Order: sequence, then C-alpha cells, then structure tokens
Amino acid sequence: MPVVPLHELLATARTGGYGVAAINVVNDLSIEAVLAAAAQERAPVVLQTSVKTVKQYGAAPLHAIVSAIADAIDVPYVLHLDHCPDRAVITDCLANGWGSVLFDAHDLDVAENLRQTIEVVAEARAAGADVEGEIEGIQGVEDGIGSDARTKQQTLEIAIDFIRRSGVDVFAPSIGNAHGRYTQAPVLDAERITALVAATGVPQALHGGTGMTDDQFRDLIARGCAKVNISTALKEAYMKSGWEFLRGAAERDVWDPPSLFRAQRQAVLDMAAGHMRLFGSAGRA
Ligand SMILES: [Zn+2]
Repeated sequence: MPVVPLHELLATARTGGYGVAAINVVNDLSIEAVLAAAAQERAPVVLQTSVKTVKQYGAAPLHAIVSAIADAIDVPYVLHLDHCPDRAVITDCLANGWGSVLFDAHDLDVAENLRQTIEVVAEARAAGADVEGEIEGIQGVEDGIGSDARTKQQTLEIAIDFIRRSGVDVFAPSIGNAHGRYTQAPVLDAERITALVAATGVPQALHGGTGMTDDQFRDLIARGCAKVNISTALKEAYMKSGWEFLRGAAERDVWDPPSLFRAQRQAVLDMAAGHMRLFGSAGRA
C-alpha cells in the first residue's frame, strides 16, 4: 500500500471537500482492522500511535507491524505520531519511518514552542516527514498526556503567526473540543477554523471528535478540518465488543481467543468504516 506524505493527503482532501479519518491504533489487531476498513471503503487513512503505544512496542517493531499489514492493501496511508512533547520519541519515530509527528509543546510558552517546532520541522523534512503543531492543548487526558483543566486559548493572531513561522503542515487548534467523552454537547468555535485556514492555507486537525454530532463534523470539515482524529471511539469499540464477547464466553464456558479477536476486529472495522463514510473520504482512494 502506498505511503503518501500527510500534506498531500490533506491537500487532496481539502480540494475534494472531505476529511481524512486519523485513527489511534493500539495494537496489531486494531492496525489490521482500521486498514481493512480503509480498503473496504476505498478511503485514505491516517494511522496514529500514541507515545504510550510506541513505548509499548518500540518504534522499529511497531513500524514493522504496520508496514507488514499495510502491504496487503492498496489505499494510501500515513503513519502519524499523536501528541508528543518528547523530542527523543519524535527523533526515534522519524528515524523509524513515521510519516508525520505531532510535536505537542503547548506546555511551553509560545515563543519557545515556536523555536522548537521550527527545529522539529527541519528534522522531519530531512526524514521526508511532516509535522502537526499545537500551542493550546486540547482539554482532557489521552493516554497519559494532557490535563482536565480548561485550556488557555491563544489569540487568533498568535495562532496564525505560529502556523506561518513554524512551517507546520497541519495545526491542532483549541475550539472548545476535548479528548474523551463529552459530558454535554460541545460548543465549538467553528469560525476559528475558517479564520485560521483563510489566513494560512494550512489544513486543521480536529481533536476530540468522539461525541460530536454528524453536523458538527461536516461543518468543521467543510471549514478546513482535513484531518479528523478518532481515538476514544476506537477504545470503546475495542473494549466494549470484547466485554460483550467475554460475557457470552462465560455463559457458554467456551474460551476461544480467535473468536474474541474476530468480534473485536469487526467492531473496530465497523466503527472506522462508519467514520470514513461520515467524513466523506469513502470512495476517494
Ligand atoms: Zn488529540
């Protein structure tokens, strides 16, 4: 399957008016299921790994697993590192074949974040890879990274200046979105997406998508969110299908691991395929 640069995948999505699903995978089963969904839907896809998953496998073995599974299918994909504040992990992933990284230095002040992001962009370019930038933090904790405190939003001018001067390929703005499950329907500053894209031409990454309405997704994609992250929905599909299956296994007192894996694979595949259709990326590869 062709690996394509993230900026190309997102530029094509902007032209076509759709969003590319960027799905956080957690192991070989979820990697295979998401790629199978992409093949089934003829949809380009971003496979994302958290820092935690990279550390669990090691960058080289994890990349080898993704490549081996992706060899079997023929839709374009990018392997992307999600929220990473750790430069050493970024260097490790770039050296081991990741096509894109999110350098998440929102804990630093914007000037220092910009200085380091420029370095990361240079490092990524040398490896033929792309960079997502972030200055505000997305509310909520994801795989041990982040905070439940309300995020501090920078001014639009500061965000535009950061995007222009850093040279990032995609930007993760804070628009009232949050990681995890929303306790109530999110109120989103969609206009900020329109303003950022109009000023910079750089596509935006939508974080905290799980729990948004279909209309919110469509509106944000039309405004320029060409990369739409999905993490919580995968975790829930994976764990809940496993839970359902294991309850049945206990009732029957039959313990067959491959049957459990099949149930989880199907649940993850259906979840991923559903999002690809919703984001309009189905049939585009
Ligand atoms: Zn995120």
